[in-house]
Amino acid sequence: MKVIYPGSFDPITNGHLDIIERASAKFDEVVVAVLVNTQKKGLFSMDERIEMLEELLYDYSNVKVEKFSGLLVDFAQANEIDAIIRGLRAVSDYENELQLAHLNRFLSKDDNLETLFLTASPKVSFVSSSAIREIAQLGGDITGLVPEKVAKKTYKKYQGR
Ligand code: ADP
Repeated sequence: MKVIYPGSFDPITNGHLDIIERASAKFDEVVVAVLVNTQKKGLFSMDERIEMLEELLYDYSNVKVEKFSGLLVDFAQANEIDAIIRGLRAVSDYENELQLAHLNRFLSKDDNLETLFLTASPKVSFVSSSAIREIAQLGGDITGLVPEKVAKKTYKKYQGR
């Protein structure tokens, strides 16, 4: 089974990595798809996000990193994806994720694109990219929440701002 794990990954956190590792162990192929968001600039550029992901995921032979723009269903169909993987951290994620899952299924050919949810591991269930950006900007400690190199690059972004 070939699955896609879409997200912004701005930046990648240990929460994302936990989902990717677990998906990689259960599915034949995992495509980590970085969404090109034309509305929002983000902290890291697309190239920087892809570079960090590729470096961190180098050892996972069944995981590849791609960028995508446009509708996820179109990208999934063009790449013969069997299912979408999403992470659930708390009930607050559920409402939005439920709507997305229904929409993606509705938009797909023959209502065929399923979304499969992995529940966040308790040790990282409180981590989000937005929290990482905010803590780093305010000079707080993000050690243990993101990989070391990601932490360094995040702090660097806010230096001199
Ligand atoms: P988006 O901006 O599309 O929500 P994110 O990069 O924030 O993209 O997240 C991508 C997916 O990863 C979402 O399904 C989100 O719920 C999940 N996710 C984010 N952080 C964690 C975490 N700490 N543990 C488990 N899943 C997570």
